[in-house]
Amino acid sequence: MTALDVQTIRADFPILSHKVYDKPLIYFDNAATTQKPKEVVEKIESGYYNVNANIHRGVHFLSLAATEAHEAAREAVRRFLNARSTNEIIFTRGTTESINLIASSFADECLSPGDEVIVSVMEHHSNIVPWQIQAARKGISLKVIPMNEKGELRLDAYKALFSERTRLVAVAHVSNVLGTINPVKEIIEIAHAHDVPVLVDGAQSVPHMAVDMQDLDAEFYVFSGHKIYGPTGIGVLYGKEDWLDRLPPYQGGGEMIASVSFEKTVFNELPYKFEAGTPDFIGSTALAEALRYVSAIGMDRIAAYETDLLHYATERLATIEGIRIFGQAVHKGAVLSFLVGKIHHYDMGMLLDRLGIAVRTGHHCAQPLMHALGIEGTVRASFSFYNTKEEIDQFVAGVDRVRKMF
Ligand code: PMP
Repeated sequence: MTALDVQTIRADFPILSHKVYDKPLIYFDNAATTQKPKEVVEKIESGYYNVNANIHRGVHFLSLAATEAHEAAREAVRRFLNARSTNEIIFTRGTTESINLIASSFADECLSPGDEVIVSVMEHHSNIVPWQIQAARKGISLKVIPMNEKGELRLDAYKALFSERTRLVAVAHVSNVLGTINPVKEIIEIAHAHDVPVLVDGAQSVPHMAVDMQDLDAEFYVFSGHKIYGPTGIGVLYGKEDWLDRLPPYQGGGEMIASVSFEKTVFNELPYKFEAGTPDFIGSTALAEALRYVSAIGMDRIAAYETDLLHYATERLATIEGIRIFGQAVHKGAVLSFLVGKIHHYDMGMLLDRLGIAVRTGHHCAQPLMHALGIEGTVRASFSFYNTKEEIDQFVAGVDRVRKMF
């Protein structure tokens, strides 16, 4: 595997050469959203300038071109995920909408009072609250997989959560706070041994490692375009075709019907059944461009480079007096959550910002996890393939400088 040419890559991301407060921007908030390469932004621009017309149903040239681009984007996503069919690729607004779609449709079809859904202690709110909404509607309950002191899910405890009322497991592939890469393949195998389907939240995995739907065998897998160098407002729900066929639509409207009368409406076939209304066809084509961009670098090279950055940053940060790093999993993505002494995470974030360093502070939409850790929030640095060790050196020096101020 050849090394990444990071300087050439950085030139593709104009924002990375910006200054903030007259200091070079160091962008370490990649778990929240990633920056966009020129190719992606140009795709959006050229989409609106050259192929803008509402898709499907149209007979005119532009409409056909836009339809073709949107469906080509679906094929690009299928290929990227190694899904069996484009019928398994549903475009949504992002991870959150994908999970809400499944929670709602799955609950309508498969959940009755007394049923149980298993989630983990390290879920993002978007993989907790949709299930709580269904819990209130359907009288189901949530069972929670605990973790060990390193921030790894406890599979022994997970196995013990199954009962004959377990209907679904919904779990993050990678924690957005701890960076833990969960053993989702094993988690899925265990669920399947109980005949229980699995939804995997891939928001923090798809941008950073190769994923293969046929190998993983999850029933549902979701991610957001904006975290993988694509635009905001577009995301993906992958679902096995037999499951998507079985589930009822999430929203009604145009596109998702075969025929409508006041007496009877027949829903459209997959994937359109789940795409009510005008889809974001500009967003889908720009997302496909982002997937093309990362594929050209190579997901395995991205993973190797980012792991190297994580190890370097962890080692360097560990030298700081009073540091506490949250998440020491053996398998870990490029996310570093920490606190220094008694310094409030918000103060650390604000002062780092003044040095041009963008990190995230707070509970990271994972308040139950914060509760389990006995803290209110952390400072989180999260890396991308366009970050460098020099940036990490400056970041560590910045953290130490803030420490000395308190
Ligand atoms: N799940 C995880 C693990 C996340 O990190 C995020 C984003 N922080 C989400 C879900 C929600 O993603 P979005 O806001 O793009 O829908």
